[in-house]
Amino acid sequence: MLLLVMVLLACQSAPPTATPTPEPLQFDGERAYQHVIAQCNFGFRPTGSEAWRATGDYIIAELQAHGWTVETQEFPDRDVTVRNIIGKAGQGSPVIIGAHYDTRRRADQDRTDPTAAVMGANDGASGVAVLLELARVLDRDKLNHEVWLAFFDAEDNGGLDGWEWIVGSTYMAQHLTVEPEFVIVVDMIGDADQQIYKERNSNAALQDRLWAIAADLGYGDFFIPEYKWAMFDDHTPFAARGIVAVDIIDFDYPYWHTTQDTPDKVSAASLEHVGRVIEVLLEE
Ligand SMILES: [Zn+2]
Repeated sequence: MLLLVMVLLACQSAPPTATPTPEPLQFDGERAYQHVIAQCNFGFRPTGSEAWRATGDYIIAELQAHGWTVETQEFPDRDVTVRNIIGKAGQGSPVIIGAHYDTRRRADQDRTDPTAAVMGANDGASGVAVLLELARVLDRDKLNHEVWLAFFDAEDNGGLDGWEWIVGSTYMAQHLTVEPEFVIVVDMIGDADQQIYKERNSNAALQDRLWAIAADLGYGDFFIPEYKWAMFDDHTPFAARGIVAVDIIDFDYPYWHTTQDTPDKVSAASLEHVGRVIEVLLEE
């Protein structure tokens, strides 16, 4: 009996032969898709609306739950207080991964109902969903940068009720106290019929790097290595200041600014393609 006790004690005090290491997290399109659903469940989310306020609060809560330091930038425009949200984690030179979280107040591309609001499952919610899933999976030990997940407000009211486009990102670009090494904007990337072409106003070298990662991951059918659109988007105010900036956008989307931009048009797989490419870029 005494011998048995000694053996047990020896076992307990012996150093473990193998330290269990947690599985590295990987971007999960299904989890990202749930963030699309959650945003759409709040309702139409134009800047100033109740659903927009709730969406911003949801973003902040998700970032904090995953250990990101949250800052907001608030400033008046028209009759509302615009709110940009930034989550920060990691160490090194800052980089910005951005998406707009407001939705367009009127579906002015809709032939039958142009005064209705846009649900923005793809135009708004898809980019936010990718950023929030990145907040969960990015491995802090592998980040060579201080990563800013930037949620831009008031991108999508342009030309309506006296609003400009890209209000939040313009404010952020004008109020930078440090210069980010690069900015990547993700917008309208959730289309189930995904075709992301290179964008003409984006930095060519960073864009080539992203498309090369996509090819390595087997996403060559979705990240098409040809130029197509030239966009005025949330990357524009950063590029205008000489900052390396890329807009990842799938502008071949027939439901753009219509009442049909709903979650059934978005796929988990499409969100995962974009999320994985950014994850690899930031962790390599
Ligand atoms: Zn839009």
